[in-house]
Amino acid sequence: MYLSKLFIPILKETPAEAKIKSHQLMLRAGMIKQSSTGIYSWLPLGFKVMKKIEQIVREEQNKIGAQELLMPTIQSAEIWKESGRYNDYGEEMLRIKDRQGKEMLYGPTNEELITEIFRSNIKSYKSLPQLLYHIQWKFRDELRPRFGVMRCKEFFMKDAYSFDVDDNEAKKSYNKMFFAYLRTFKRLGLTAIPMTADAGPIGGDLSHEFIILAETGESKIYSDKRIFDIDVNKHVDSESSINNLRKQYDKFYAVTDDKFDKKDFEKKVNKENQLVTKGIEVGHIFYFGDKYSKPLKCTVDLQDGKKIYVKMGSYGIGVSRLVAAIIEAKYNNNVMKWPNEVAPFDVAIIPSLQKNDNSNLLKAEKIYNSLIKDKIDVLLDDTDEHLSAKFKKFDLLGIPNQIILGSKSTSDKFEFKEIDGKSDSLSLDQIKNKLLNKKNIN
Ligand code: ATP
Ligand code: MG
Repeated sequence: MYLSKLFIPILKETPAEAKIKSHQLMLRAGMIKQSSTGIYSWLPLGFKVMKKIEQIVREEQNKIGAQELLMPTIQSAEIWKESGRYNDYGEEMLRIKDRQGKEMLYGPTNEELITEIFRSNIKSYKSLPQLLYHIQWKFRDELRPRFGVMRCKEFFMKDAYSFDVDDNEAKKSYNKMFFAYLRTFKRLGLTAIPMTADAGPIGGDLSHEFIILAETGESKIYSDKRIFDIDVNKHVDSESSINNLRKQYDKFYAVTDDKFDKKDFEKKVNKENQLVTKGIEVGHIFYFGDKYSKPLKCTVDLQDGKKIYVKMGSYGIGVSRLVAAIIEAKYNNNVMKWPNEVAPFDVAIIPSLQKNDNSNLLKAEKIYNSLIKDKIDVLLDDTDEHLSAKFKKFDLLGIPNQIILGSKSTSDKFEFKEIDGKSDSLSLDQIKNKLLNKKNIN
C-alpha cells in the first residue's frame, strides 16, 4: 500500500475527550471514529489490527478442537424469558421490537441462543463433548462507556461454549480453554494472568479473569509476583500437560477485587512477592454446570436411557478491547509499538524524497515490489514530506520495522530499523529473511 492512497486521517492534536493513552493514540492514528456515545466505526488501520487479533484468537480456538459457527446479533426475547435472564439483565440489554411487535434484543452474550441450538440438535451423550464458538458483535448499553473501545456499547467478542456430560469432563474443557487463552495472549505479545474471579451474574462455581497489568485498568488485582514467571510455552496440548499448567497457576495467589481477602493474601504471600496493582480484563471464563441447561431443558440421553442436563461453560475474549489493551501495554511515550503478529503493516519504507530527484522513490518501489511478492505487507511513504515529519508519523503508527532510504542507505545496502531499536545496514535479501522469520515465529 502507498501511504498517499491509504485512508488514514491522522490527527495532529490529541482530542480532549480521550483520557487514556490507547484512546488518544487510536484517534490520532485514525484507527477509529466515534459515531455516537460508546459506538465506533473502525477505520482501515484499526480494522486491520482487529482482524489480525481475531485471526490469532480463531487459530488458538481451532487448535483445541473448538468449532466456529456464527450466531446473529439480534435475538428473540423468548429464550431469555425461558432462562429467566430477560428481566435480570436489566438496562444493559438493548431491547427492540420488530414490525409485528415481537420482542427482540441485540445480544449482549449468547448462552441462551447456543443452548437453544444445542438442545434442538444434540440428543445423545455420544455427541459430547462439544466446544462451539463464534466471533461476533455484542451490544451492552454500558452505564459509563469510556476509554474508547476499551469499554464501549458495541464491541467485538469471541465467545465459546462447552457442553459436557459431567463435572469432571466439563473441567477438562475448562482447562483446555484456560490453556488456549494463555497461548492466545502470549502470541499477542501480552502477559495475561488468570485471576480467580467471582462468577458474577452469570453464576456458577469456577471462573477466571485474564488480566494484563496496566495503570489505567479498571480491575484491581492482588497477586503473587511469581505467577508471572510461569512459561506457558513449555506446555503442550495434551491433557496431562494442560492439567500440570493449571496446577502451577493454582499454586500462586492471584485474585480480583471481589475475591480479595486481606488476611488470606498476607498469609499466603510473603511481603516481597506481594503485588497490588491494576489491570485490564481481556478475557473471562466460567464454568456454570446446568445453570442454563436446566431452565432451557437441554438434556442428553445416557447409555442407560437416563436423561441428564448438559454441563456448560462459557469463555469470552474481548477482541476489540484487545486492540486498545495491546497499545496500553506496549506504548512508550507517544510511540505505539505493535507486536509483529498484529501490526497493521509488517514494514514501512520511508524514502527521503527530493524535488527533481526520483532516485529514492525508484529504489523504494523496487524494494516494495520485491517484498510484496513474498507476501510481506508493506507501507511505502510516497509523500513528499520531510524525513523528520515522516519519522514522527511512523512513531505514531507503530509499524514494527522500517527501511529508511536516506543518507545511510547505498545502492544495495539499506538502513533497516526496528521501532525504537538500533539501525542496521542490510541487503534486500537480508531484510526479506529477517521479516519472513518474524512472520513465522508461531
Ligand atoms: P467487564 O467486567 O469489563 O464489564 P464482563 O465481565 O462484563 O467485563 P464478559 O461478559 O466476561 O465481560 O465478556 C468477555 C470479555 O468481553 C471481557 O473480558 C472483555 O474483554 C470484553 N468486554 C466486556 N464488556 C465490554 C465492553 N463494554 N467493551 C469492550 N469490551 C468488553
Ligand atoms: Mg460487564
